Amino acid sequence: MPRKQTKEVKIGHVTIGGGAPIVIQSMTNTDTRDVLATLKQIEALAQAGCEVVRIAVLDQDAAYAVKEIASQSMLPVIADIHFDYRLALIAIEQGIHGLRLNPGNIGARWKVQEVVRAVKEREIPIRIGVNGGSLDKEIREKYHGITAEGMVESALNHIHILEEEGYDKIKVSLKASEVPLMLKAYRLMSETVDYPLHVGVTEAGTVRSGLIKSAVGIGTLLAEGIGDTIRVSLTGDPVQEIPVALGILRTLGLKERSVDLISCPTCGRTQVNLAELADQVEMKLSHLPVLDRPLKVAVMGCAVNGPGEAREADFGIAGGKGMGLLFRKGEIVARMPEAELLPALLEEIENYVKEHRKD
Ligand code: SF4
Repeated sequence: MPRKQTKEVKIGHVTIGGGAPIVIQSMTNTDTRDVLATLKQIEALAQAGCEVVRIAVLDQDAAYAVKEIASQSMLPVIADIHFDYRLALIAIEQGIHGLRLNPGNIGARWKVQEVVRAVKEREIPIRIGVNGGSLDKEIREKYHGITAEGMVESALNHIHILEEEGYDKIKVSLKASEVPLMLKAYRLMSETVDYPLHVGVTEAGTVRSGLIKSAVGIGTLLAEGIGDTIRVSLTGDPVQEIPVALGILRTLGLKERSVDLISCPTCGRTQVNLAELADQVEMKLSHLPVLDRPLKVAVMGCAVNGPGEAREADFGIAGGKGMGLLFRKGEIVARMPEAELLPALLEEIENYVKEHRKD
């Protein structure tokens, strides 16, 4: 799938743009001043497969918390700052790896110059983010509402401010909650600049509706070669965003697939809560390392037909009434109480992964 060539920026050790693999981002929803809670959530995000994390920096205490968060975080950290250039300066001083800040929103040019001087010293990229819902009044009036052209013009205004100050470590996002609008805005921006694009559908909604919107919006752009980093925004725990992001990338062949999960549709023979079991297996296996070939795992509803129906699976479990089976390539290898099925499967897979991981 040919990808639009973009410039490269580095957020900590992670490269975005310039043909690098597409990077998955998320954002913590903890109080940033609560360093322990924030680090704990970052760890959970990293374990799920997130690669870069953003934190909200609302006040000076949060900006000073950056020191501990950025130095102990498993992931490069971006500070999300609105309006107050002093918070950006503190966050930079405290070791932040990236900023999300619109230079046109922080006031006088000398304030922008101070921020640019600080980011230049450390080569910290700035993401310019225009959201359809918060488009400037003048632009809304000029374009008679929220339009893709208006969103692009707004982003270009911010970009030009940084360019005039001699800074080009820039990423751009143009999110909207309406998928056709964000598609048009990103396409237009991709034709106009070669800065890396951070792609997402904002306020996408709950897991159910947000998943569909994100898959269609982000997936469509990626399939056209547009996008260097993605964020799936879902209401609630940000960790739930990561399997969706991974799923989008894997579906398009943009990330190697480690696991191919098979689960039966259930029928009158099913005597376990198979949907929950399959969900748990999927979640646990969502961040396996890359293997020498995709691992096939089956979660089947009954002990009578399950192993046979999933003969081609490397490993599988089949539920029953109280008892269940662990099987390998269609052959039953153990019988055990239902509650032990999942841990036993995970142990088998852990051993397999040790022998078959690529890195
Ligand atoms: Fe039904 Fe068993 Fe087949 Fe699942 S594996 S669909 S429970 S027969």
